[in-house]
Amino acid sequence: MVATALSVKNIHKSFGSVEVLKGVSFEAKSGDVISLIGSSGSGKSTLLRCINYLETPDEGEISVSGEVIRTLKGKDGKLVAADKRQLEHIRTRLGMVFQSFNLWSHKTILENIIEGPMHVLGMTRKDAVGEAEVLMEKVGITPKRDHYPNQLSGGQQQRAAIARALAMKPDVMLFDEPTSALDPELVNEVLLVIKKLAEEGRTMVMVTHEMSLARDISSEVIFLHKGLVEERGAPSQVMRDPKSARLRQFLQMA
Ligand code: ADP
Ligand code: MG
Repeated sequence: MVATALSVKNIHKSFGSVEVLKGVSFEAKSGDVISLIGSSGSGKSTLLRCINYLETPDEGEISVSGEVIRTLKGKDGKLVAADKRQLEHIRTRLGMVFQSFNLWSHKTILENIIEGPMHVLGMTRKDAVGEAEVLMEKVGITPKRDHYPNQLSGGQQQRAAIARALAMKPDVMLFDEPTSALDPELVNEVLLVIKKLAEEGRTMVMVTHEMSLARDISSEVIFLHKGLVEERGAPSQVMRDPKSARLRQFLQMA
C-alpha cells in the first residue's frame, strides 16, 4: 500500500464575511502530483497556505505523513493551531515555493540552501554543503553558488528556491504558480526542473496556470471554482473531456 503523504479534509476559510474556501478535501499518496487549477480568486493560494497553516483554516483537518496538525477551537469557534512546536516540525515536512522567489537577499545561493539544514535540521556545515552541491547540480545552478540572488535571473532564482526547499527533505513540495512571475523565456527552465522532480516520484501539490505541465505530470487535477471543487480527476479526463461547463470555459481561456 502506498502511504498517504498529505491529507486535506473539509477545509473552510473565510476572510471577514467572505467564505473563500467552502469545504475542500483531497489526498496525495506518496509520489502523487496534485495540480490545483482555477480562475484568479477561486481560493487556490489560500488552500495552499492553509496546508502549512500560513493561514489557519476555520474548519477542517490537515495531516502530513499521517501526523494530524493538532488544533483547538477559539472562542469564535474557529480553529487555532494547538501546538506551536508540532506546527514548526510539520512545516519542515512541507517545502513551499512561491510565485516570487523569496530567497534571502543578503546570503549567497549556497548559504540560502544550507541555512535550514544547518539551523533547523542540525546538520553539520560539511554535510549541508555536500547535499547542497547535489541539489545545485540537479537544478542547474552550480556556477551561481557564491552569487547573491540579485545577480541571478528570475529563472535561476526560482531554481535556487526549489533547491532550498528540497534541502529540507520535505515529504511534500507545495508550489504556488512558480513560473507566473517569470519572463516567458525563463519559464521552461523552471518547468523542466519541476518535471524532473515529478519523474523522481516527489509528492507535490502545485497551483499552476501551465496547463500543459498539469496535463503531463499530474496524478489528479482539481479545478476550484469559488472555493469549491467543481471538477476533479485524471488529467486525461479533466483536461481532455471536462464535464463542467465552467471548466470547459476556463480551459478555453487558458
Ligand atoms: P487564487 O490564488 O485562486 O487567485 P486566493 O486564494 O489568492 O485565490 O484568493 C481567494 C480570495 O480570497 C480572493 O477574493 C482574495 O481577495 C481573498 N483573500 C486572499 N487572502 C486574503 C487575505 N489575507 N485577506 C482578505 N482576503 C483575502
Ligand atoms: Mg493565487
